[in-house]
Amino acid sequence: MTKIGLEIHCQLTNLESKLFCSCKANYRQFEINENICPVCMGLPGSLPRLNQEAVKKATMIAMALNCSTPEKIAFFRKNYFYPDLPKNFQITQLNIYGDTSVGGSGSIVVGNKEIRITRIQLEEDPGRLIYEGSSSKNQITLVDYNRAGTPLVEIVTEPDFENPKQVREFLNILSDLLENLGVSDPGLEGAMRADANVSIDGGKKVEVKNIGSFHDLEKAVHFELTRQESLHSREIEIAQETRHWDDKRKITISSRSKEEALDYRYFLEGDIPWVTVDPAIQEKLKSEMPESISSKKERYVSKYNIPNQVADVLSSDKFYSDLFENSHTESNAKEIANIITTDLMGLVDTREKRESSKITANHLRDLADSIQTGKISRNSAKNALHEIVKTGKELSQVISDLDLGNVSDESELITIIKDVISEEPQAVEQAKSNSQTINYLVGKVMQKTKGKADPQLTLNLLKKQIE
Ligand SMILES: [Zn+2]
Repeated sequence: MTKIGLEIHCQLTNLESKLFCSCKANYRQFEINENICPVCMGLPGSLPRLNQEAVKKATMIAMALNCSTPEKIAFFRKNYFYPDLPKNFQITQLNIYGDTSVGGSGSIVVGNKEIRITRIQLEEDPGRLIYEGSSSKNQITLVDYNRAGTPLVEIVTEPDFENPKQVREFLNILSDLLENLGVSDPGLEGAMRADANVSIDGGKKVEVKNIGSFHDLEKAVHFELTRQESLHSREIEIAQETRHWDDKRKITISSRSKEEALDYRYFLEGDIPWVTVDPAIQEKLKSEMPESISSKKERYVSKYNIPNQVADVLSSDKFYSDLFENSHTESNAKEIANIITTDLMGLVDTREKRESSKITANHLRDLADSIQTGKISRNSAKNALHEIVKTGKELSQVISDLDLGNVSDESELITIIKDVISEEPQAVEQAKSNSQTINYLVGKVMQKTKGKADPQLTLNLLKKQIE
């Protein structure tokens, strides 16, 4: 049987400072080795001080994944030597004296499959290695410690995945969930990384590390399954080892024999006392949790009658659901959902486009209201949206700049309708007995007005003129 388990590392990117010092959590804004201090550099005599906000955010993640949240948590030293780890140990969590990580066993449903969460731990991220030089002969390795000590949450799953596709779906759901909680921006480079444990037919477990994107993770798991099946069919023993993903060659490569927990010489971090996460604080956190994606979706469907699929897309992405939440009223909700999912999503389909986009909730409200009151047609609204995303101008300004307003003056519309009637005598004759043909004539009027006539008004006026 195929068994796949994941260890997902997620940076708490929305925090102010690192996990044990006051250096900034947002290390990306600094020049190399500018965001460091004696604590995160592990200098002798320096002492860590726990960032309480990080504990709260990690606890929120645990709650959102239906994990148990112990009242007392502890930190451990995981000892190993690596150049990006200045202290030669990483402060992390481990459940050796009972459940002392921020989150105990939980679960999350992917499709119809329940994926169990083993635990959630809070730990520090190491620094970053930078490789320079083109060939292996003259390559040098530099270390940037700006990231060292930034808050990281590790989510460990049980080996419940049966195939690479489930892995990918799970990661998409998890990433939306973390973004919705407001604890992380998973779209940032390196904000979410994952290792996968893969085994087949009760064979030894192989860990695949170093995978930077969900797309590659799915590929890496697929490759590893194929490799193990091939070995198995030739009766070659599968070694328990750590392999890393070579994203250029799209294969996994053996990197070292897998360490056992024993090799890390875990021991309690004596510089950080046991931390109490009071039940009262837990209750407060629970009450402050943002509405879950599934609850949002249900509400959109039941309260506003938004179609299931539209509600699904709208609720799972924080950028769009925030826009929706801040713009809709009971009467325009469906219209706004429609604008977002059919038009806006196509205009801001990359991170760069979203960031440079000038659209606000007010714009969306104006657009929906103008469509509903017949001020502009849906077609013109689409053009207006394009301009708004680009320039951020007020809708009224865009309507007058681009001359998008509906032809609302009846006499003007009647003149156009009369033109169409004289140009289409045959269709007019047919329209008297065939209601389909009248739609053809409405289409002609729309064409002449460049889509700015109100279709309902046009239809009414046309009927009167033909009779
Ligand atoms: Zn520091």
